[in-house]
Amino acid sequence: MLFLQKSLKRRVSFKYLMKGPIFKDSNEQQFYYSPSTGRIIPIPKGINLENLIEEKTCFKFKFNPQEVRRKLDEERESIILETTEQCNLSVHTVSIVGIISGKGHTQKKNMNIETALNACKDFLDHSKKTGFRMISFYGGEPTLNFELIEKIVLTYEQEKGLGFSVSTNGTKLKDYAKFIQDHRIFVAVSLDGPKGIHDKNRVSKEKKGSYDEIMKGLNALDDSFKKHHLSFSATIKDPEDFMSCFEFFSNNFQNNAFRVGFVKFLDSPKKEVMATRKDFERLKNIYLQMVTNNNKIPTFLSFLFEEGLNLIDNRVRNYNEEELSCLHSCIPGVRKLFITTEGKYYPCEKLAYPELEIGDNKQGIDRDKVLGLLKFVIDKENDYCSTCWAGTICNSCILLESRKEGKYDQERLCQNCDKKRNSIIDYLSLYADLKKVKKNERR
Ligand code: SF4
Ligand code: SF4
Repeated sequence: MLFLQKSLKRRVSFKYLMKGPIFKDSNEQQFYYSPSTGRIIPIPKGINLENLIEEKTCFKFKFNPQEVRRKLDEERESIILETTEQCNLSVHTVSIVGIISGKGHTQKKNMNIETALNACKDFLDHSKKTGFRMISFYGGEPTLNFELIEKIVLTYEQEKGLGFSVSTNGTKLKDYAKFIQDHRIFVAVSLDGPKGIHDKNRVSKEKKGSYDEIMKGLNALDDSFKKHHLSFSATIKDPEDFMSCFEFFSNNFQNNAFRVGFVKFLDSPKKEVMATRKDFERLKNIYLQMVTNNNKIPTFLSFLFEEGLNLIDNRVRNYNEEELSCLHSCIPGVRKLFITTEGKYYPCEKLAYPELEIGDNKQGIDRDKVLGLLKFVIDKENDYCSTCWAGTICNSCILLESRKEGKYDQERLCQNCDKKRNSIIDYLSLYADLKKVKKNERR
């Protein structure tokens, strides 16, 4: 306690009062997270710190425009080609982005080869200093324009440090398995869980579930290819399905890379679907048990917990008024660049909104627009994140978390910030548990 007070009193030169969260581990031991020191401090039993702790601190954020320009010139990492707007499934979650940006999927355009070749050339010319680069095919359902995929892969596969990936609903996988395998294309299949769950949501226009077709496609791929080149992306619509989804992937694909998302009703009053607290706690306990026993962790659990734990691990310690480089978005166009069928450029596939356009296939990336977006992010960081206790842990993308109907919305940002802080508290609590398990050393 004395140490805690001393450690906080040392920090005297800041302007704002800030209070870190008090949280408990699974044994009801209380901790305080100190935003200014980054320390996770056990609170001795019987002491109530609720009204005691106020740290005087304020984070500052900056970006370096020259460095941004340099990265845009020579260190771009990936592009995502909207290969087609067509889709052969009628999926509940289909392209919210497209609907909002006014494109919808009614026009059903394919990207033409010339647009794709131009985009790839522009990317390769501006990624000469990047270690590993990726060209991704996205849709709609990209395999419906497989001719374009073949052309791009055959044209550029000899380039050094370049990989290809396709995000697919898997229904045509069996038709293209040989090409995909021969050319070592990474495949991300949208699979929501066991047949009963998957087929509720992902059905053909004739209302036939797509699970069986996906399995035929997966069976057409070699085991060794699947081990290293296959990943899954699940979208959970009903929280009741969460545990079945966990069991399905842990039993059948426990080593494949995996992402789980939740249906987001972006612009409807319906709430975002999340796992129930009970399921979250159950999975947390399974995860802790596996770490304790040194078991191999299924990718479902790694995805759920380790990204958050890494945020805690990488938090800033002993913050001392230095300006922090932009934390709350990537550099648009560097980590990703989404290119629509029409050749318009956006920061990523989740942000294809008219006001976030950052160039096109003819002119390339408009650097001033990218700098404008970053200036916007930094201004919001210095308005909101500077006095938020999670300021140096949180990795929320402000461009994304503040979108409502494609436009910036402060209320939406604040709602999402509350959710993010709550999830960081969950990870702090798990982190404290793991520290105990591993005595200062995480797996
Ligand atoms: S969501 Fe934000 S941080 Fe993520 S890729 Fe898109 S622009 Fe970058
Ligand atoms: S929760 Fe919101 S205000 Fe806090 S650091 Fe994250 S983005 Fe910034």
